[in-house]
Amino acid sequence: AKSAGGNRFELADPEADARAITRHGLTTALPAALDRGEFFIEYQPLVHLGDGSVRGAEALVRWLHPQHGVLGPDRFIPLAEHTGLIVPLGRWVLEQSVRQAREWRERHDGAGPLRINVNLSPCQLNHPGLVQDTVDILERAGVAPDALCLEVTESALIGADDDLLKPLRRLAEMGVDIALDDFGTGYSNLANLRRLPVSVLKLDRSFTQSMQQFPADPVDLKIVEGIVSLAHSLSLAVTVEGVETGAQAEQLRILGCDTAQGWYYARPGPPERLHELALVDATG
Ligand code: C2E
Ligand code: CA
Ligand code: CA
Ligand code: CA
Repeated sequence: AKSAGGNRFELADPEADARAITRHGLTTALPAALDRGEFFIEYQPLVHLGDGSVRGAEALVRWLHPQHGVLGPDRFIPLAEHTGLIVPLGRWVLEQSVRQAREWRERHDGAGPLRINVNLSPCQLNHPGLVQDTVDILERAGVAPDALCLEVTESALIGADDDLLKPLRRLAEMGVDIALDDFGTGYSNLANLRRLPVSVLKLDRSFTQSMQQFPADPVDLKIVEGIVSLAHSLSLAVTVEGVETGAQAEQLRILGCDTAQGWYYARPGPPERLHELALVDATG
C-alpha cells in the first residue's frame, strides 16, 4: 500500500513492515499449524443451474490461527507454496475432502452422489507423488475417482509442457475430473484447450460480475456465450463462480452454463451445512 502522501521514495513504510513481519511469522508457524490441526475446511455447494439441485461442493481451506483468528487461504496458501508446505497441506485437504465425500454419500442414499472439488496448487502438480497419493486417498476412503474433481488454475497450465500434464492425464484417464479454474483471466489460447486433459471450465468471477445488470452488457453476453459454446463443442462442462444474485444465475443459465457456485446459493460452510442443503433439495 502507498504510505500517506504517496511518496514512492519514502523508505519507512510501517504498514509494509507490519505486513512483512506477519508474513514471516505466519510462514514460520505453518508447519506446526499442520501438526496441531489448526487447519479446517469449509465446503461451498455446486448447484445445477437447470434444476437447482446440489451436485457437490468445493473444499476451501482455512487456518484457525491461535492469535489472528480465522485466516483465509489468500493469506497463507502463497506462503505454503513458497516453502513447499503446500504439498503436505494439499494432501491433507484432499484426504479430508475425499473422506467427507464418502460420509455424505453414506448419509445420503438416494439423493444422488455428491461430488467433491479440491484445489490443486502448481507445486503439487510438480510433485512426483501426486498420482499415487491421490489413488491411495481414494482407495482408503472407498471413493470412486469420478466423484473427485481437481481444480487447477488456467495460469498454472499456460505453457505447461508435457511433463507437467502427464500426471493430470493419468488422473483424467482414471476418471478424475480436471477443472480449469479462474478461466478467462489467463489469456490462454482457446485452441490450447484441446491439448489439456480438462473436462470442466470454471468461468472466473469477473464474468459473473459483468452479469450484474439485467440485461447485461451485450458484449459481455456475447463473450460468455462464445466461451460456453466453445466449451460445449469440446465436451467440457461450464461452472460459474461468484454468483451473488438471482439475476446473475438466470442470465448464466440462459447462456447455457451448467453449474453454479456462489453466495446466492450458500457461503462456504461446515460439512453438516452441505448435508442439510442437499437433503432439503432431495426431499423437495
Ligand atoms: P477459488 O478456487 O477461485 O475459490 C473461490 C473463492 O471465491 C473462495 O474464496 C470463495 O469463498 C469465494 N466465493 C465463493 N462464492 C462467492 C461469491 O458469491 N462472491 C464472492 N465475492 N466470492 C465468492 P476463498 O475461500 O477465500 O479462497 C480463495 C482462493 O484460495 C481459492 O480461489 C483458491 O485458489 C485458494 N484455495 C482455497 N482452498 C485451497 C486449497 O485447499 N488448496 C489450494 N492450493 N488453494 C486453495
Ligand atoms: Ca477453485
Ligand atoms: Ca476460481
Ligand atoms: Ca480465484
